[in-house]
Amino acid sequence: MTSFKTLDSADVKGKRVLIRVDLNVPMKDGMVSDDTRIRAILPTVKEISSKGGKAILLAHFGRPKGERVADMSLAPVVPVLQTLLGREVGFANDCIGNDAASAIARMSNGDVLLLENTRFHKGEEKNDPIFVSALAELGDIYVNDAFSAAHRAHASTEGLAHHLPSFAGRSMQAELEALGKALTAPRRPVIAVIGGAKVSTKIELLENLVTKVDALVIGGGMANTFLNAEGYSVGKSLCEHELADTARRIMSKAQDANCAIILPVDAVVAWRFEANAPSQAFAVDSIPADGMMLDIGPHSIERVRAAIDDAATLVWNGPLGAFEIPPFDRGTFAAAQHAAARTRDGHLLSVAGGGDTVAALNAAGVAGDFSYISTAGGAFLEWLEGKHLPGVEVLRRA
Ligand code: AMP
Repeated sequence: MTSFKTLDSADVKGKRVLIRVDLNVPMKDGMVSDDTRIRAILPTVKEISSKGGKAILLAHFGRPKGERVADMSLAPVVPVLQTLLGREVGFANDCIGNDAASAIARMSNGDVLLLENTRFHKGEEKNDPIFVSALAELGDIYVNDAFSAAHRAHASTEGLAHHLPSFAGRSMQAELEALGKALTAPRRPVIAVIGGAKVSTKIELLENLVTKVDALVIGGGMANTFLNAEGYSVGKSLCEHELADTARRIMSKAQDANCAIILPVDAVVAWRFEANAPSQAFAVDSIPADGMMLDIGPHSIERVRAAIDDAATLVWNGPLGAFEIPPFDRGTFAAAQHAAARTRDGHLLSVAGGGDTVAALNAAGVAGDFSYISTAGGAFLEWLEGKHLPGVEVLRRA
């Protein structure tokens, strides 16, 4: 992706490189319980260090709201980072001021230093110019490797780029390239598979996608809202009856844009929302009045598989059913496994993201087979909504 400066063109040797990373990792009893996000920053940190740059890591953790909160310190990340990098990592008790400046002054080329939680200062989330300047004083170059925080215009994600020569880190670069291939300049036809509980949280996303993709598969609880809008009775299923007009507007927008909407033709119905509850498949025009649609049915699965076969590019967010409780995981798993197989065979470029989606693909055992899985959550969803992400835009201009 040529519109961003990458580390290829950064001369880091002997420079103080402020690297914005995502270290908002799950912690339990003061210990890191999942190191996925830490692993994601290794390529950038190692590259800058091995090229003789002083790697100074900036990150937030939790929501301390501008106060020092002891259990939101980034200190527990240091030992994990040391193990994964195979080298010593320093730590400064503050991300600005004397603590930070003196720790940085003691660094040799190639050293790695982590600064304390940027959100211990109110200026971080406010993108306050004085706080931005205090950060900028500490570095010569700015590298943003935290796509997941790029939907926020904060001091360390956006403000800094106005002060220092700015570059996308390797993890940011990989994310931008994958997303570019999926929606900005995709191989067509492009299919989007969108599921999840509700339409209300994904209206903007659906309205954007129908203008960009050739086919949109709608599953999960949100499909019930669409089926209801089309005049079907959905029984006791999760359904936002008040969004019938919204659903109809999205469908008409899709028609104008030549985007095929693929709704379920049948559903797996149960009478209790619990694992292994007795269930049965019904066509969508004969859903029992006392039942709940908890998954797409076998004919719908076939239709989704066929739609995936027709596509060259796939974007996925949200499960197609209540995948946490078997057997209502079948639709999601079957579609995910099919997309994974098409990807393995070289027929499909597949990009998926969003919290529950990553969990669902992991549970289906296929996350490793997708072309790219975004763990960015909010930033991924805003990107699907077609929004400009401030942390990305500022790198584009840089
Ligand atoms: P979201 O966070 O909007 O992507 O929604 C994910 C949640 O939607 C998961 O917890 C699923 O169990 C739930 N879900 C998906 N399909 C259904 C359905 N048909 N009925 C009820 N919940 C569903």
